[in-house]
Amino acid sequence: MQGVGFRPFVHNLALSMNLKGYILNDSRGVTIEAEGPEEVLGLFANAIETNPPALAVIQEISQEINNSLENYESFFIKKSYDKGEKTVLISPDTSVCTDCLREMKNPADPRFHYPFINCTNCGPRFTIITDVPYDRHNTSMAEFPMCSLCKSQYEDPADRRFHAQPVACPVCGPHIVLKNSKGEDIETDSESCIEKTADLLKEGAVIAVKGIGGYHLAADALNEEAVKKIRSRKFREDKPFAVMMRSVEEAEKFCFASDTEKQLMSSFRSPVVLLEKKQECLIAPSTAPDNNYLGVMLPYTPLHNLIMDRFGSPLVMTSGNISEEPIAYKDDDALERLSSIADYFLIHNRPIHIRCDDSVVRIFNNREYPLRRSRGYVPFPVLLKEESKIPVLAVGGELKNTFCILRANQAFLSHHIGDLENEETYDSFTNGISHFRKLLGVEPTAIAYDMHPRYLSTAYATESEIKTKIPVQHHHAHIVSCMADNEINGEVIGIALDGVGYGDDHRLWGCEFFLADETSYTRKIHLDYVKLPGGEKAIREPWRTAAAYLFGQMGEKAFDCIPGLRKSVSEDKISIVSDMIENNINSPLISSTGRLFDAAAAIAGVNIISRFEGQAAITLEMIADKHETGEYPIEFITGGDMKIINPYPILFSLYEDIKKGAEKSTAAGKFHNTAASMAAAGAEIIRNETGNNRVVLSGGVFQNMILLGKVITLLEKKGFDVFFHRRVPCNDGGISLGQAVIAVNRIRKI
Ligand code: ZN
Ligand code: ZN
Ligand code: FE
Repeated sequence: MQGVGFRPFVHNLALSMNLKGYILNDSRGVTIEAEGPEEVLGLFANAIETNPPALAVIQEISQEINNSLENYESFFIKKSYDKGEKTVLISPDTSVCTDCLREMKNPADPRFHYPFINCTNCGPRFTIITDVPYDRHNTSMAEFPMCSLCKSQYEDPADRRFHAQPVACPVCGPHIVLKNSKGEDIETDSESCIEKTADLLKEGAVIAVKGIGGYHLAADALNEEAVKKIRSRKFREDKPFAVMMRSVEEAEKFCFASDTEKQLMSSFRSPVVLLEKKQECLIAPSTAPDNNYLGVMLPYTPLHNLIMDRFGSPLVMTSGNISEEPIAYKDDDALERLSSIADYFLIHNRPIHIRCDDSVVRIFNNREYPLRRSRGYVPFPVLLKEESKIPVLAVGGELKNTFCILRANQAFLSHHIGDLENEETYDSFTNGISHFRKLLGVEPTAIAYDMHPRYLSTAYATESEIKTKIPVQHHHAHIVSCMADNEINGEVIGIALDGVGYGDDHRLWGCEFFLADETSYTRKIHLDYVKLPGGEKAIREPWRTAAAYLFGQMGEKAFDCIPGLRKSVSEDKISIVSDMIENNINSPLISSTGRLFDAAAAIAGVNIISRFEGQAAITLEMIADKHETGEYPIEFITGGDMKIINPYPILFSLYEDIKKGAEKSTAAGKFHNTAASMAAAGAEIIRNETGNNRVVLSGGVFQNMILLGKVITLLEKKGFDVFFHRRVPCNDGGISLGQAVIAVNRIRKI
């Protein structure tokens, strides 16, 4: 990877060992030639391999012994010349390092309190690069000529800023300014900007803060009124906000954090980590309503550190956008779009070239389980076991879109693009693809996409100039993304528990048991279809789905099985929905685990309305009694070559439980046990038939930690080898990887 201080590290190491020779960087990697005693060379190679600089990633080392000496006089860094082939990796944006923080806090340092301090080990990378090779003139720092101090450090191989492209100081670099919502300057001096920002936040203001990959909206996380202000102005009713805390110690005042969670939070990736709230957590309730978890991140830029140090307590830091639009990253756009949300703007003049949201990660079973893979991870590739001979572009799905460019054994998943439902997001998607193609120097010869006929990404692919077009079934992509994630191939039992994906029978799928490999799949078991009255609308109104599930057996009485329904929804609306179900009006058939969870939540009296997709299901998870051992009956019906799971006995028993006065938490616990048993029983049916013993788990429903844990436990007890995600999300943010791998394998077979 370029710009991570590898050359100075090798240079200084060689000097310390008295070795002669050179190091050369080119776009394909690094060549080192060193002369010296054999045992010292061995130690040298070992030190490079075992203890490289923080951000360096060594993929492969090959060594060659040459006995003819060149008799070099010193060890030097050879000037690189571009060989044209762009295979050197670009680093993700990384959080400010401890050396830089120390300097920033030292009043005698020329970069004292400077919000843009950075070095070869830290700072922005991906978001400021405009072109390759990664050199200052190809970054958004091009417009800031270096002063003599910065230049001398930049050019000195012994300095920790040698070739740090974003190097800057108060004399030559970017500056911050505080503006009001009309765009007028309030403060321009750096110190006063920080002071005033902290004061305003204390008074309850909402401030848009320009970060590395875009704008955040900041507010005092201990001030309920301030947090509520963001919520109402952002039109984001219940989705949780992330919180920035000064340190892991501070995070532990509000949440539980394991060592692995603390390590991940403090790592150079600095993602939002979901932590379990403590009972006495004092964070404003509106931050993450009805949620047992809180998304916490540490300050990852020098500017964040200055604000947090001055402010002294946690800040809500949520993405700077309205509702579902992409996060604002250009100053004019931010001032325009966010002026109705933010009271003030803390802005700077270092341009962000490409937007990049915060990553969101959970720790599960002591390892990473990503929910959104973006800043700090992108554009580093997911490395695959097998090489592809052709470069492939996979365009992903619709919700939580990412795209993926596959080159050799490197899968470059994009940053989080968002829900491809509006023009802004679509522009971000197409610009992102062009940018990645340029940076990677890749001309894809095949394009993979989702089978859904109405996705914007599908339209992009079918209209693309790339000739070889490969449609991929949504859940097949989920399963293969998890296979690639775990570096396995060959036939597996794939269980995709998901919201919605287009099936090859033109119906909507989402509870799929496949026998699959990286080329094709056979659908072995699925949840029975149900009518989704009103289509998309039912996703926001789980009571509709609940009624539809029960309607076939109970008719009109179904509506009486949903607690509180008659009180909160008008008779007219209920009779319209009843009519839709009965007469098949605008009621597409769907087989979806997400909707089954919605229905269970409605029947349990938890939520009859969802303010965002999956809210009812999430609340059901949050209230579920983890110690409950009971479950509801599961029935597999044989239908042709396939087995079909009958949802009715599950939901009817749940209803009867509630009617008899069972606690919601008990019913929710039993329902989770049932869903887990259903997955395990399905896997067993397929194993009995095929002898296959490997189970791969994917799909958005596996964001449910209780379910994931229970499914894994049951399967392992039955002796299965179980694979779940570790590097890409189980939700639709991961499917572009599966699409790309499937495309390569299909082409190989042709
Ligand atoms: Zn640094
Ligand atoms: Zn300078
Ligand atoms: Fe999906």
